[in-house]
Amino acid sequence: MSVFTHIATTGPEQPGACEMCGYGRTITYNWRIAGKEPESQVGGYRQSLEHFGATKNGELYTCNSCGGRWFVYERTACALPVHQLDLFERWSGADQVLTPKHLDIARKIGARPIDVYGNGKRSVDVPCEIEIAGGEVFPAAVVSFQKYPPYEPYKQPARLASEIVDLRPGKYTLPASVRIATAQSREISYGFAPTLIETNSGHPLVINGSPHFMFSTKYAAAKTRPSAKAFDRYKMPPAADDFEQETAYFVADWFDGVEDLRLTIPRQ
Ligand SMILES: [Zn+2]
Repeated sequence: MSVFTHIATTGPEQPGACEMCGYGRTITYNWRIAGKEPESQVGGYRQSLEHFGATKNGELYTCNSCGGRWFVYERTACALPVHQLDLFERWSGADQVLTPKHLDIARKIGARPIDVYGNGKRSVDVPCEIEIAGGEVFPAAVVSFQKYPPYEPYKQPARLASEIVDLRPGKYTLPASVRIATAQSREISYGFAPTLIETNSGHPLVINGSPHFMFSTKYAAAKTRPSAKAFDRYKMPPAADDFEQETAYFVADWFDGVEDLRLTIPRQ
């Protein structure tokens, strides 16, 4: 029997916050600290779990009280969303790899750099456009190489690398030079870390944070470049995005050397 089947018999379909294991209120916690400090809140969470079986890259635990599923790898325990147990089973049961041709394209696009705050170490994320069987196209897709299943809320609904039929740079993907520039942006006010860029015709635009894509009806993302001008908050150019588009995450297996796909910030 698969380690992912069973369960719904012991808990509600959509478990709410569980007093015993923290399911529904905690997304991830440090498993090692929870083991060392049984009197702490996370220590209590850990003690309420029963080992359920081995899965790809980790172990699966379940809570006797709510039926919540937890994936444990290295030092981390992650709550698995109940509506994606089928996805986790497929993730665990098959290799999630790119073909050599698609990996080569991903390498040329380059993955998001680790930013100046150190964010982005846990996965290697390559923005692109992806087509799956049946011809459905995801124009804003990210291949996310990682050791764990896609439990993160921002990656929902997630898909798997094994679904990919075609992978190409895509019209919304920002060029490497812009992604390297935005990874160096610093917050100047809460939630605002601007980078000044310009279009091929010299129009200034501002990007907040370090996104993979630019969603513009007016300008081609691929033809933007970092601006040499200094950012002036009193003469703020328009935002680069003028519409919203959902990003689709395709989870792939981490492998030795995958971090070489990351773009790097040049030393000053
Ligand atoms: Zn529970």
